[in-house]
Amino acid sequence: MLHACDLEEGRCYAYCPRTPTDLEQLRQALYDPKDLTPELGPFKGLYVTRAADESTRSSAQHGGTVTALVKLALEEGLLDTAVLTEESERFLPQGVSVSDPLGVVRASKSKFVTSPNVAAFNEAAKGGFEKIGVVATPCQALALAKMRLKPEPAKDNHIDKLSLVVGLFCGWALSWRDLARLLKGKADEDSIVGMDIPPSKYECMEVYTTNGTITIPLEEVLPSVKEGCQYCFDMTAEFSDLSVGSARVPEGWDAAKGWNQVIVRSRAGQELLDLARSKGVLEFRDLPEGNLEKLKTASMNKKKFCVAALVKKSGSSENLLYLDPQDPVLSRFIN
Ligand SMILES: Cc1cc2nc3c(=O)[nH]c(=O)nc-3n(C[C@H](O)[C@H](O)[C@H](O)COP(=O)(O)OP(=O)(O)OC[C@H]3O[C@@H](n4cnc5c(N)ncnc54)[C@H](O)[C@@H]3O)c2cc1C
Repeated sequence: MLHACDLEEGRCYAYCPRTPTDLEQLRQALYDPKDLTPELGPFKGLYVTRAADESTRSSAQHGGTVTALVKLALEEGLLDTAVLTEESERFLPQGVSVSDPLGVVRASKSKFVTSPNVAAFNEAAKGGFEKIGVVATPCQALALAKMRLKPEPAKDNHIDKLSLVVGLFCGWALSWRDLARLLKGKADEDSIVGMDIPPSKYECMEVYTTNGTITIPLEEVLPSVKEGCQYCFDMTAEFSDLSVGSARVPEGWDAAKGWNQVIVRSRAGQELLDLARSKGVLEFRDLPEGNLEKLKTASMNKKKFCVAALVKKSGSSENLLYLDPQDPVLSRFIN
């Protein structure tokens, strides 16, 4: 949130991922009801993949699956532009509309600060673009899903240009100013080339610099997490065509970093993944045993924490503020 917002109507209010939202209505309207699962939302399959092209992988966050899929969608004419995220100032991301397939690689890697990508989608839609893809965090994907239901029919003429949403798994995002403060004194700003959040058992954030990796304990990082992330129920970007996160493989985190896990959710998502397989754009490896169950557990834990945080904030187990206490998935966490 950039400023204290007291709107109670209008487009921002209708689309905001933290204003009243009927998740079940969105699930039923936008996905095949037979694909709906309580743990992971719409689900057609889980895969472990990476970009076949080594140079795409080396400039990406993990296996480069997102970059490879978006690049392929532009090359094949499935999209005429894609809304991605670049830094505008140091550590401060912005949404950018990229139409040149080679430009997709420049916008790769995760920026752990929230980025105004829905605004960038609106800008692209107002321009001449007709088939727009968006790479989105779960909250951004939820906002786009709310727009798809056209709650403001007279003003919702751009959303049909949304052709693909590639969602990112997300535990939380950081406040820009707090992140800059956190890093000050730990590393020379210009030496930082990336960062990551390893699986929860490591309890740290890794900051990659030209002089090596710095590890920051999670307890130092957590105060910089945006408050709105506490109230997020969605770890896997459920309102996407495909969702992509880091992989879990038996060889450990160093090997896992080079791969992604991908959830396919919609027909458009399945078609793009199948195309990437047939064209050799992605490499696939077998899904390690137990991965689906672990992912489901992690996703359900996020929902449980979200419901507990909302009940604490509202002071009543009958009031989940922006979410419906009767929701078939979330209601199971209300005591
Ligand atoms: C704030 C945040 C938190 C995350 N938390 C987790 C997590 O807890 N667990 C997990 O498994 N994965 C998490 N991810 C996803 C993970 O970091 C990778 O993005 C994902 O594994 C895809 O890897 P890749 O190699 O395919 O990405 P790449 O090929 O490098 O592509 C990354 C894409 O993400 C876009 N992007 C970068 N930053 C943002 C942003 N702030 N908002 C929207 N789009 C962005 C880039 O433009 C690019 O298109 C998180 C990502 C973000 C941005």
